[in-house]
Amino acid sequence: MKVLFPAALLTLLGCAQAQTPPAAPASAASAPASHVTHAIETRAARVRSLAEKINRPPEELKQSCRFESDIATAPPPGVVSLSFDDGPEPGATEAILALLDKHQIPASFFLIAAKAQRHPELATLVKSHPLALVGNHSWSHPNFHDIALLKQTHELERSDTALAALEAPKLFRYPYGNSSCESNAELLQLGYRIVGWHVDSCDWAFDRTGSIDAHEARICGVDKANREHFVDHVVTAVKARKGGIVLMHEIHPNTLAKLDALIERLLAEGFKFAPLIDPAFAASLR
Ligand SMILES: [Zn+2]
Repeated sequence: MKVLFPAALLTLLGCAQAQTPPAAPASAASAPASHVTHAIETRAARVRSLAEKINRPPEELKQSCRFESDIATAPPPGVVSLSFDDGPEPGATEAILALLDKHQIPASFFLIAAKAQRHPELATLVKSHPLALVGNHSWSHPNFHDIALLKQTHELERSDTALAALEAPKLFRYPYGNSSCESNAELLQLGYRIVGWHVDSCDWAFDRTGSIDAHEARICGVDKANREHFVDHVVTAVKARKGGIVLMHEIHPNTLAKLDALIERLLAEGFKFAPLIDPAFAASLR
């Protein structure tokens, strides 16, 4: 598959990748071009947000409602809630649901409403699965920092209408965790709780080769020892927070390949799993 790299993205992704475009993972070889473009955009936007968070004073970020990403509130001790963004994704959604069945654990799926409309059978599958919860991840997955207020409103209202048919609980997660004061207010008015995460699996960065480069490891908080080890990184991060909401994505083949092992490790470490609507997580939602 030929992947085009716009110049601006190459700058964000670092010059090493500019010289050698990454090989798509084997299982993504048959994926449509839009899937790959989405993964590249996700990577660039996450790098940009994390760099901004490192470089701007926290109080300033809070006042301007820039991020609804990392949750400061402690999670219920020893309790994990898995969440998967950017679906539904043919092949991946079914595979994740099968793992929930295998281990009898719950998880949330923050669906891109336009994708849910393109794959209604998958959206229905998630909705009807007893261990799965549907959340709203906007209509078309824009970066809210880059679009006008009117477009933000449109994203919220259109996705709310589209997902209403799934009778989903009103849980919203911003693409990239990037928010605005105005859209926060509108979400609360629409009856939503805003959902960030305690633990970023950084799967967007691990995806292409199963390892993460030094720059992305630093900004995403991945220990040096875990740069080649996705599962170890997530387990270490979950242990550091003593549980919590874990951010992952349906669209990354590396995540899918390691998910079974990750769940087994977390269970072996003694963690319990609970859905986001469990009252124990109420204090972690906005
Ligand atoms: Zn997303």
